[in-house]
Amino acid sequence: MRKQKIVIIGAGIVGASMAYQLAKQNQEVTVIERHPAAALEVTEKSFAWIHTTHSVAPEYWHLYDAAVEEYHALEQELPELSIHWHGALTWGNPALRENLPLQNLNREQLQALEPNLKDYPNEAIFASEEGAVDPIGLTELLLSKAQEYGATVQFDTNVTQLQQEDSRLVGVHTSNGFLESDIVVLAAGMGVPELGNPLGYPVPVAPSPSILIRMKTANKLIHTLISNAQFEARQLTDHILLAAEDYMDESEENGPEAVGQRAFETLRDSLKGGDQLELESIKVGIRPMPEDGYPIVGFHDHMKGLYLAVMHSAITLAPLIARLAASEIINRDTRKELEPCRLSRFKNH
Ligand SMILES: Cc1cc2nc3c(=O)[nH]c(=O)nc-3n(C[C@H](O)[C@H](O)[C@H](O)COP(=O)(O)OP(=O)(O)OC[C@H]3O[C@@H](n4cnc5c(N)ncnc54)[C@H](O)[C@@H]3O)c2cc1C
Repeated sequence: MRKQKIVIIGAGIVGASMAYQLAKQNQEVTVIERHPAAALEVTEKSFAWIHTTHSVAPEYWHLYDAAVEEYHALEQELPELSIHWHGALTWGNPALRENLPLQNLNREQLQALEPNLKDYPNEAIFASEEGAVDPIGLTELLLSKAQEYGATVQFDTNVTQLQQEDSRLVGVHTSNGFLESDIVVLAAGMGVPELGNPLGYPVPVAPSPSILIRMKTANKLIHTLISNAQFEARQLTDHILLAAEDYMDESEENGPEAVGQRAFETLRDSLKGGDQLELESIKVGIRPMPEDGYPIVGFHDHMKGLYLAVMHSAITLAPLIARLAASEIINRDTRKELEPCRLSRFKNH
C-alpha cells in the first residue's frame, strides 16, 4: 500500500474521523486546525444524538441504517469510547422514517422508562437502538488514536489557501507556512466553501444555526433521549442535561437567549425535580448544511488531489462515511454507498 501525504483540514468530528481511519491504514496524515484544540466549532455545540430514524430521502437510507452498527464496531476497536445506548423516545413529532422496526410504548411502559415526567402521552415511539455521545470526547479520542498511528496534528494553524497546479492540488498555504500534499481532505465544516470556492467550483454549503442549552442537575432526571413537540433533551452525564432547539432569529423575543431560556423553563416545568435544574449556557452552533441537506463526500471531479467531506448529522454519519471515504482515498475504489453523496449531483458541477 502506497503511503500518501494526506492533509486534513479541520479537527471537528469529520476531520477526526477521517484522520483516524487514514492513519490507522498507514497513511502519512497531517490534521490542520485553526483553533488551539479539537471540536471547538460546531462539534462542541452538538446535541450528538446518533439519530438514524428520522425522515431522509430513500437514496440515503442505507447510510443511516448502517450508522449504529458502525458505532458498535468502533466501540470494539476503542474500548475507551463511551456511548450512551439509552434509546430515543419520540412523540408528537412527525418526522420519523416509515417502515422501521420501532416499538410503540403505552403510558405504563413510558412511566417505567421515564419516571420523572409530569405528563405522559398515551403512546410514544421508542427507537431502542439509538444512542448519543459526548461529541468533544469522541473527537479527541479519534484524534489521539490517529496520533498513536502516526498522524500529526497542527493546532493554531489557519489554512489560508489551497495551492493548485493545472487541475491538481499540490498543497496548502497556512499561517505557519506551506505544506505539500498528495491529497487534501476538506473537512473544514463552514470553512469548506471559503477554501473550496476560490478554486472555481463552488461547494453549496450554507450556515444553518441551531441552539444547544446546557443545564446542571443534582440528579439524573432523564434516562433515555426525549424528543417531542415541547422539548428535545437528554443527559450528557448524570449531572449535565442538554437540550437542543431550532434557531429562529436574532430578535429580542425569539433570539437564542430567549429560545434557550424558554427551553430551560419548559424542562423545569415538565420534569419532576425540574426545579433543581440550573442553566449553564446557551450556545449557537453553525451547522455546515449542504444545499439539499445531504452529505457532500468524494474526490472532486475537476480538481485532482482534493477530497470533500462535509455533512450535516455528522455525529451520526461521520464514523461510517470516514471509513468508506478512507477506502476510496487509499484503494482508489468507488464505494457505491457514497454515490448519492457526490458534489456532481448539484447543477453547475
Ligand atoms: C445544536 C446542534 C445540535 C446538533 N445535533 C446533532 C445530532 O443530534 N446528531 C448529529 O448527527 N448531528 C447534530 N448536529 C450537527 C453536528 O454537530 C455537525 O454535523 C458536526 O459537528 C459537523 O462537524 P464538522 O467536523 O464538519 O464541523 P466542525 O466541528 O465545525 O469542524 C470543522 C473544523 O474545521 C476548522 N477549520 C475551518 N476552516 C479552517 C481553516 N481555514 N483552517 C484551519 N481549520 C479550519 C474549524 O475551526 C473546525 O474546528 C448538531 C449541531 C448543533 C449546532
